Amino acid sequence: MVNEKTMLSVNTPTEENDIFWMKHALSLADKAEAIGEVPVGACVVINGAVVGEGWNTPIRDHNPTAHAEIHAVTQAAKHIQNYRLIDATLYVTLEPCSMCAGMLIHARVKRVVFGAWDAKTGSAGSVMNLLQHPALNHQAEIVSGVLADECADKISAFFKKRRQEIKAAKKAKRAQQQD
Ligand SMILES: [Zn+2]
Repeated sequence: MVNEKTMLSVNTPTEENDIFWMKHALSLADKAEAIGEVPVGACVVINGAVVGEGWNTPIRDHNPTAHAEIHAVTQAAKHIQNYRLIDATLYVTLEPCSMCAGMLIHARVKRVVFGAWDAKTGSAGSVMNLLQHPALNHQAEIVSGVLADECADKISAFFKKRRQEIKAAKKAKRAQQQD
């Protein structure tokens, strides 16, 4: 599944590996969905082992910074006892926003593999490419579009369901007022 947006390094791990870990990130996205958050999941992998996991919790935590990537990287850095994740790959189901991309540069993450593109806030090529900005002191490799349809479908199904719930709630309220 290589397209024009994909950038691969010389010693790129196999595509199967990326698919395997993206599936894991998708399972983490389900944890966000279960608590009513936009289903985005992320994990950090170093030397073939997962060292950090996260999913969206900004609504629950009243915290706009509580994105899946922030949770996953925070956990990974604690796990390896280092604020820099030199050999890490971050997997995330949705293209990172500018906040998360900035954090990933601070963490010196080596590779960023994401699923769905985000035309509104994506900062790994869609709106901007902060992860590979030439003026910054670190650039991350990007692999995009891994299980893109699955990742995007999960998010659109979530919003569709939420719209239906809002509609149903409004209808119920109107029915109540007519009583
Ligand atoms: Zn973010």
